[in-house]
Amino acid sequence: MLYQKYEVAQTLAEALSLLESHNGGNVRLVAGGTDLILQLHERILSAEVLVDISRVSEMRGIRQDGDELVIGAATTYAEIYHSSLIQNHAPLLAEASKKIGAVQIQNMATLGGNIGNASPAADAIPCLYALDADVVVASPNAERRIPVAEFHQGYRKIDLKPGELIKEIRFAIPPEGTGTAFYKYALRKSQAISVVDAAVCLKIEDGVIRHAAVALGAVAPTIIRSPEAEAVLIGEPPSEDLFARAGEAARKDARPIDDIRGSASFRRYLVAVCVSHAVRSACERAVR
Ligand SMILES: Cc1cc2nc3c(=O)[nH]c(=O)nc-3n(C[C@H](O)[C@H](O)[C@H](O)COP(=O)(O)OP(=O)(O)OC[C@H]3O[C@@H](n4cnc5c(N)ncnc54)[C@H](O)[C@@H]3O)c2cc1C
Repeated sequence: MLYQKYEVAQTLAEALSLLESHNGGNVRLVAGGTDLILQLHERILSAEVLVDISRVSEMRGIRQDGDELVIGAATTYAEIYHSSLIQNHAPLLAEASKKIGAVQIQNMATLGGNIGNASPAADAIPCLYALDADVVVASPNAERRIPVAEFHQGYRKIDLKPGELIKEIRFAIPPEGTGTAFYKYALRKSQAISVVDAAVCLKIEDGVIRHAAVALGAVAPTIIRSPEAEAVLIGEPPSEDLFARAGEAARKDARPIDDIRGSASFRRYLVAVCVSHAVRSACERAVR
């Protein structure tokens, strides 16, 4: 048996109360199950009780709240890329969502699950780093709001205490003149984990890049930002030379390893390719 008990929560309060009632036992949340069930099968993890949050309506969907966008943690990638709010304000997330697994995975898997699984090669998380998003964590009596980069504390280590769950993700709607883009290199077009990916959010004003956030996936124990690439971009007008220099600069921040998907030196090469592509697309969108 993979687990002894499967509880299905219908509301956020019920999910939290189920977590609390099994606290002290080996209880885990399940959303789409596309990471967790595999890990249970392969005995990487164990669980006595699973609490299914996929039907919790307060944790699903995408909405605008003042000047912020809010994505429920149990929102699937298909819901994300079909959302006009995401397409209009954060197209990099729509782009990344379409590159995750294939359609079957995109219909089941959730943004909260990507964050909860905390893989350094996760595709949605770099977008959240580039957007300076916050993770909202709920417990029975309180909510905490944590910048996504602080929430990820180390290799597959997140700031989530027993009895807590990720309720939603929030970020400021990027202002006029902003362009965002995601670029992934993988060994196949679908059903493939990133060898390297890059997410970019930048703002152009009077022909000059005023704000730049560049995030990299699969090149360090966690997703990282690239301060070197950001410094190269800020204050400069977009040009092919600048895109290439930003890509080269990002290589200095990458700390990749060799694994079955690629060597460290191949990954360092790919960082420059992915960053320059993503920066070019973000600049084109910013001026459009
Ligand atoms: C064939 C295949 C292809 C894939 N391709 C990609 C890919 O291209 N890119 C990519 O990034 N990933 C990929 N994945 C991994 C996976 O689909 C994603 O990480 C997905 O976002 C996980 O979401 P889920 O809802 O299925 O998570 P689950 O498996 O349900 O949960 C994952 C982990 O997060 C925890 N969790 C879930 N929701 C919450 C919450 N609200 N609060 C706290 N903890 C929570 C769970 O307890 C578990 O530990 C692939 C997986 C498969 C099987």
